[in-house]
Amino acid sequence: MSEQVPQARTTTVRAALEAALVAAPEAGLTARELSAAVGISEKDVAEHLVHLQKSLQASGGRLEVLPAECLACGFVFRDRKRFTRPGACPQCRATRVDPPAFRAAR
Ligand SMILES: [Zn+2]
Repeated sequence: MSEQVPQARTTTVRAALEAALVAAPEAGLTARELSAAVGISEKDVAEHLVHLQKSLQASGGRLEVLPAECLACGFVFRDRKRFTRPGACPQCRATRVDPPAFRAAR
């Protein structure tokens, strides 16, 4: 768990993540791309995004989520609150799902 990560490291990672999100292209960056950019796991990216969303909102910015989409039927996961990739489509059960992408404005 990230609780074991020293505070300074957490702050640095989150700042790097925020910088990558602010500089993201219009299509956003997926957790995998952010993971590669910042050097943490995709799961950790999702955790940091939760905190980043709060801090961005607190300072008048926002985290923009471009929702995941089913590649088989086109179902868009608009109501999904979690930042991880969905396992399967609730509509057609396909597992080929285009992951959510993220951008930030501050
Ligand atoms: Zn589907």
